Amino acid sequence: NKPLAEVDPEIADAIGRELERQQKTLEMIASENFVPQAVLDAQGSVLTNKYAEGYPGRRYYGGCEFVDIAEQLAIDRAKELFGAEAANVQAHSGAQANTAVYHALLKPGDTIMGLELAHGGHLSHGMRINVSGRLYDIAPYQVDRETSRIDMDEVAKIARERKPKLLLAGWSAYPRQLDFVRFREIADEVGALLMVDMAHFAGLVAAGLHPSPVPYADVVTSTTHKTIGGGRGGLILSREEHARRLNSAIFPGQQGGPLEHVIAGKAVAFKIAMSDAFKERQQRTIAGAQALATELLADEGSGVSVLTGGTDVHLVLVDLRESELDGQQAEDRLHEIGITVNRNAVPFDPRPPMVSSGLRVGSPALATRGFSVDDFSEVGKLIATALTPAFEDRKAELAERVTALAEKHPLYAHLNAPAIA
Ligand code: PLP
Repeated sequence: NKPLAEVDPEIADAIGRELERQQKTLEMIASENFVPQAVLDAQGSVLTNKYAEGYPGRRYYGGCEFVDIAEQLAIDRAKELFGAEAANVQAHSGAQANTAVYHALLKPGDTIMGLELAHGGHLSHGMRINVSGRLYDIAPYQVDRETSRIDMDEVAKIARERKPKLLLAGWSAYPRQLDFVRFREIADEVGALLMVDMAHFAGLVAAGLHPSPVPYADVVTSTTHKTIGGGRGGLILSREEHARRLNSAIFPGQQGGPLEHVIAGKAVAFKIAMSDAFKERQQRTIAGAQALATELLADEGSGVSVLTGGTDVHLVLVDLRESELDGQQAEDRLHEIGITVNRNAVPFDPRPPMVSSGLRVGSPALATRGFSVDDFSEVGKLIATALTPAFEDRKAELAERVTALAEKHPLYAHLNAPAIA
């Protein structure tokens, strides 16, 4: 029972340095968040030792009475939080949850219609070399060239032409709410199942700040680590009629033993997501993203713009098509002053994907850290200035202002990192 720093100083050092990076820089990757200590405790627990193939009460291993409690709590809370008839909490990740849904409800060669990757979709929605693109016929839809928004008439047109077996709504990079009522109507018209992947906006749905897809979709998938703020993993919600097939597609269809320690971390996160404090945090998450958009749009001469002119959610898509900077250069500049974002292709991007013409900037992690709307405005000013020609002259000042914000909102202050103890 020696401490990690003694058993494996190299790993302890990497963890310590990662903690320090998270504490000292501003994390603005839209798909990231900071889990509370309670989730770290659950995920770092002895539940990791237990094999529990099967489902609560129906396991293929003995000694599952306590992991059954944890997994049943996760299932019941997920159903309560989102008002779903059935929940599967075993998917190891969001991508696996999606693959399991296809496995459960489709046959290879069936048509899936989802938002194209280059227009904000996820690679598990039909990217050519992903298993989704390899096994299924993909009928992608795009955003409108003028508005950068999904045009539901266009979705309907493609659906009538391609007759998908599964219509998929959901995104990794899109700053607006989806019209689930219309997606359901289109699915019904063409005889498709409707699946919604709410990985990004699940926290906003849980807080009642984004329409819920659950009443409309046959199946809703999610990750548990983005806006919802839990440990890293996947979730499938569904109508009761699909539950058995989905469960057997996860186990034994795709996975062996579930990660019961991670499932316990999901249960804790779902409990927290029912609190008033969580709702307040999600409100600040959206208001913070809107404050970022306002600041990024303030300097009209910079060539920096924001797709769709703002946001309804937790992220802003910065459009650099009119800027001299490409996405890579912009990402590097922000990295230099201590702000972490990812470059992102914008729809109809003239630059290649490795460089791209956009940035995806998210507010969830900083909102969790306690940032106020005013703090987000300050962050927006820092980013906007970093993307102007004044960057080199003002770099040191910008980095100092980043440090001041990080120090104003301490993170994991109680954790004594082995490497920096
Ligand atoms: N679905 C969407 C919409 C996502 O944005 C992501 C991750 O970014 C995933 C699925 C995949 O989740 P994971 O990385 O846990 O496999």
